[in-house]
Amino acid sequence: MMAQYIEIKAANADCLLFYRMGDFYELFFEDAEIASRALGIVLTKRGKHAGADIPMCGVPIDRADDYLSRLIALGHRVAVCEQTEDPAEAKRRGPKSVVRREVVRLVTPGTITEDRLLDPGRANLLLAIGRRKVSDAAFAYGLAALDISTGRFSLSEVPGAELPGAIARHDPREIVLSEAIHADPALARLWQDVAAPVTPLAQAELEPASAERRIKAQFGVSTLEGFGDFSRAEIAAAGAALLYVERTQIGARPPLSPPFREASGATLSIDAATRANLELTRTLSGERTGSLLDAIDRTVSASGARLLAEHLAGPLMNLRAITRRQEAVAFLAEDHALRRRLRDALGRAPDLARALSRLGLGRGGPRDLAAIRDGLDAAGSIAADVSGIGTLPEGLARLAGQLSGADAELVVTLRAALADELPLNRRDGNFVRAGYHPEIDEARLLGQDSRKVIAALQARYAEETGCRTLRIKHNNVLGYYIEVPQAVGEACLKGLMRETFVHRQTMVDAMRFTSVELGELETKISGASDRTLALESAVFEDLAARVLAQTATVAQVGEALAGLDVAASHAELAVELSWTRPHVDDGLAFVIEGGRHPVVEAALRRSGEPFIANDCDLSGEGRGRIRLITGPNMGGKSTFLRQNALIAVLAQMGAFVPAARAHLGLVDRLFSRVGAADDLARGQSTFMVEMVETAAILNQASRRSLVILDEIGRGTATFDGLSIAWACLEHLHEVNACRALFATHFHELTALSQRLARLDNATLKVAEHRGEVVFLHEVVPGVAERSYGLQVARLAGLPAGVIARAGAILKGLEKAERDRPGRPRIDDLPLFASLSPPPPPAPPAEDGLGEMLDALDPDAMTPREALEALYRLKRER
Ligand code: ADP
Repeated sequence: MMAQYIEIKAANADCLLFYRMGDFYELFFEDAEIASRALGIVLTKRGKHAGADIPMCGVPIDRADDYLSRLIALGHRVAVCEQTEDPAEAKRRGPKSVVRREVVRLVTPGTITEDRLLDPGRANLLLAIGRRKVSDAAFAYGLAALDISTGRFSLSEVPGAELPGAIARHDPREIVLSEAIHADPALARLWQDVAAPVTPLAQAELEPASAERRIKAQFGVSTLEGFGDFSRAEIAAAGAALLYVERTQIGARPPLSPPFREASGATLSIDAATRANLELTRTLSGERTGSLLDAIDRTVSASGARLLAEHLAGPLMNLRAITRRQEAVAFLAEDHALRRRLRDALGRAPDLARALSRLGLGRGGPRDLAAIRDGLDAAGSIAADVSGIGTLPEGLARLAGQLSGADAELVVTLRAALADELPLNRRDGNFVRAGYHPEIDEARLLGQDSRKVIAALQARYAEETGCRTLRIKHNNVLGYYIEVPQAVGEACLKGLMRETFVHRQTMVDAMRFTSVELGELETKISGASDRTLALESAVFEDLAARVLAQTATVAQVGEALAGLDVAASHAELAVELSWTRPHVDDGLAFVIEGGRHPVVEAALRRSGEPFIANDCDLSGEGRGRIRLITGPNMGGKSTFLRQNALIAVLAQMGAFVPAARAHLGLVDRLFSRVGAADDLARGQSTFMVEMVETAAILNQASRRSLVILDEIGRGTATFDGLSIAWACLEHLHEVNACRALFATHFHELTALSQRLARLDNATLKVAEHRGEVVFLHEVVPGVAERSYGLQVARLAGLPAGVIARAGAILKGLEKAERDRPGRPRIDDLPLFASLSPPPPPAPPAEDGLGEMLDALDPDAMTPREALEALYRLKRER
């Protein structure tokens, strides 16, 4: 057996091997050590290999899913090795024969299909990447995004510079690519940074010809033309994805929808840093709670939740498509009764796509059939409900039309065939409804009869032995057996029953027997139950085949349900929080009246505080295309910046927005540079990260883009920082000419509004009340008068002594500044000229204590000298 194990393990060296032995999956050697540590299960040993003990641990079959999901979450891959013949068969071949075993499947994060392993509200994407040369130095990258749990399959191509952003948009669970792409030094950092495990595939397997062959075979076509015009990079990616599916699913072929090609520029492009900074689908710390997605999700079904996340990840660029979505939302926001009925029905509809995929892979169970039944049923009732409405907007009419494609007969059959209570596994049987299949009913009856006969036999034996506690029981080892207390058992062995009872086991206080009669009955019962199982299994196959014959239609119904759920979710949200429909066109307007930040507002609502709505106008050729915002920390600058970016995202995904009124010209790219956290793990300083991100913005932002810059230049010395912020602002104004919000603590920059025609200043209003600062969170035109840093520091709980000392130092600094007429002011500096660094401000006036402190060198002092110095200092005070 060990020889067999070692051979199978060698062929799956990069996986943990779950090796089936009876009711357990066993792990050996290093796998056992890894798994026992990861899962907290006992490490034991079994036998010896090369003279040393073999470490082993095991997981019971019926809990395997739990353990699998934990291993997968930790990034492991698992090869599941099953017994592929009956142990009796092996015995027949010879006493020393080992049961044949084969790996039936590799379980990896991007290829799971089990409900218990999947997150219902999140797509489970496998992303494959291919590429083609576009010039000597540049590549274009093809992306194949495949979710085998739903059959979704899309292809796209992006230029090299946009690869990180495209990966972030897909948010894959696993990435596969060629060895060459993996080894490209220019991309090393990217692979290191992505959250998903990255698996390189051997170049030899990724030849263009074999990629095409794989795609044709998967979809049963002789040419790819019918699907669209794919680039070589896209075909390479699709080929790699399908190769990986083949390898992990081993023979089973998931039902995939034909690849659809996402045109480049179809979605609002958002780079990885912006996506993270704006916390669209998860917060900077990685949680869904606190993200925009979490704040806007009012969906009632898992497939709706997934589609919502997909829409949020890729807001649209196509006006017609945006309008179509908005009209659906508007209609459902108006008609409360319809919306309620719809959401009721949608909430009851199970996850069609995932059930369908499991059935297609031969991994489905009775509950998946029931999911198809109930999903189609819900779709039918929704279709009937809306069919009475004459004036559905186009978007809704389209979705409604998709609902009724499935064959009504199928639902009727499933209803008639499936029992009310369904087991998870078809092996457990008892899922076919009584009356559906005469032979199953008959076989079941036989089984029940036999059970009655057993009861009668138990009564008879009880009488014959005179033992009222005699029981006939069943377990997997003995089958049916007779159990009596120890004393009665001893008597049976000697007495009357000697001929009838055959001794099997002696327990601590009981004895177990069988008898010829019982053995015969057992054969009959197990024959009947084997037969029922076989018949039920055939019914299952038949029903699954009927469902799969309608794969495309069922998938479409699933998509329509998800689409309706998303539209109804936006409508529900709009009604609940008074959000409005934004006017989106292809101009360059950006007018938001009474805008709010959905996440901050929700947080404040919970603590009973009001959110102050703010306007933002970045339209027009005149003033205000770029707004420079100054104001104290905690005033609300970041909140204001982000809320405007989020409103643009919401508007282009077709949702309503948290504003009294909004008019937006399509944004082609959204950029933000908002407070990057220190990235020590990557060995990059905050400042470096900030500069890399800023560079990307200045190099890429077009007139149509929206740019949000928060505190550029903060991470370096004051004058470096000021110069950088200044130059960036000029570049944005002159070169990018985009709509932008620029928050800064460099008050000097506000003077630039006199020189840059489209730059305007705004600030956050603050009131002072008896020396305390009150943040009003209101954005008003103008410049912040003071920075209130010390007040904020006091609010934060800095010790009073430190605050007082800081106040003294500040006074000194301000005086030094006033006394130094030579220091250049912003007005004196030539526009667009390099900034010659002014002399640093004078140090604050020091007192004697400070000078004494300066003179001390703690490293060179003995403890005694240190103590004396301390006394001196104390005396001085
Ligand atoms: P800054 O970027 O100026 O330091 P933030 O945007 O981080 O300030 O806001 C600080 C806090 O002020 C937020 O956490 C929020 O509680 C509150 N706040 C910000 N904007 C508003 C607003 N418009 N209405 C109410 N409270 C706000």
